[in-house]
Amino acid sequence: VLIQNIGRLVTMEPGHGREGALGVIADAAVLSDGETITWCGPTAELPAESRSGETTAIDAQGGVVMPGLVDCHTHLVHAGSREREFVARARGESYQAIAASGGGILSTVRATREASEDALLEGAQRRALEALRFGTTTIEIKSGYGLDWPTEQKMLRVAKQLTTQVPIRTVRTFLGAHVVPPEFSDRRGAYVEALCTEMIPAVVREALATACDIFVEEGAFSAEDARTIAAAARAQGLAMRLHVDQFHDGDGGVLAAALQAASADHLDCLSAQGVAAMAKAGVVAGLLPAASFFTRCPQRPPVEQLVAAQVPIAIATDYNPGTAPTLDLMLCGTIAITQWGLDPDLALLGMTRIAARALGCESHLGSIGPSKAADLLVLQCKDEYYPLYRFGTPHIRTVIRAGEVVFGE
Ligand SMILES: [Zn+2]
Repeated sequence: VLIQNIGRLVTMEPGHGREGALGVIADAAVLSDGETITWCGPTAELPAESRSGETTAIDAQGGVVMPGLVDCHTHLVHAGSREREFVARARGESYQAIAASGGGILSTVRATREASEDALLEGAQRRALEALRFGTTTIEIKSGYGLDWPTEQKMLRVAKQLTTQVPIRTVRTFLGAHVVPPEFSDRRGAYVEALCTEMIPAVVREALATACDIFVEEGAFSAEDARTIAAAARAQGLAMRLHVDQFHDGDGGVLAAALQAASADHLDCLSAQGVAAMAKAGVVAGLLPAASFFTRCPQRPPVEQLVAAQVPIAIATDYNPGTAPTLDLMLCGTIAITQWGLDPDLALLGMTRIAARALGCESHLGSIGPSKAADLLVLQCKDEYYPLYRFGTPHIRTVIRAGEVVFGE
């Protein structure tokens, strides 16, 4: 497959005489042997044999070509929706008050437990296609609306099946430690024990996920619970991710560094010590602008400090039916730029290369170069910043996954 007539090829690999932090090549072409990119560079240097009759050509019409987006934090599989809760919040009720009255996460838990596997798959499929149309070619999917093994297993099986139904790559994460289930409300320790001795070993035995996530927050799990759960997950070979410092400073950055987490996400209340610890340990900061925006979070992540300390920043949707019901990753970038002052280059890197790093697949996803996967977007615009600026609508002409056109022309 030869993509030619590219106005600006945004490789996300700076240097080699390329332009800026995004490594842009003007007037470029990309060649792939199907799944893998074999060559990219200025059109003038295109190898002559690539113009043979056997090559499928895609004309980018002078537009931007960039890597397929990587959404490194979603809760894609669930039943039900929570628009009534959105209305209640708009009328002044707090997230915690809604949760205490049986709404919030627990209402999604009830709906997901009751849903059949087919119904869950149908909903997840619809949303995965939506993500693909927004340019996401790799999506992380967490469990966490079961909080009992049959439902957690059902969710992860659905996420696993999804790749046979929709041309999107998935990375699956076990989030049994999302909230304490109602059956265990007065014996959290027993639930932590069940996570460590029953569920995590089953996740690994059935190859349902490659990572484990924990929501560390007042009303969810403590830092001490996290250490116990992470030890069990590590022993089973799972990577670690954390939801930390969302509503309170729980010293989440320091915890993430100590647990060698691949990423620590939310971070609206991250402390200065947390920033320093994450920088030292190389933990990716997973920022979730849509969740902060949608819940009208009064705090914001310390973006300037993260940048100054050179903590790698990923941007994800946190798609979930309660606090971030969007799969528009570019929109999340716009929010991070306008509300938090994130540099637009860091926003674009954060939804491609750095997001791939958070998922442990930076070696083949999230950037454009020889031996990288041919997951590419052909945009209808001439400038890579245009989709961030002209927010709320996709600007994608073609989505290519593993060298195949999976959306558009
Ligand atoms: Zn989340």
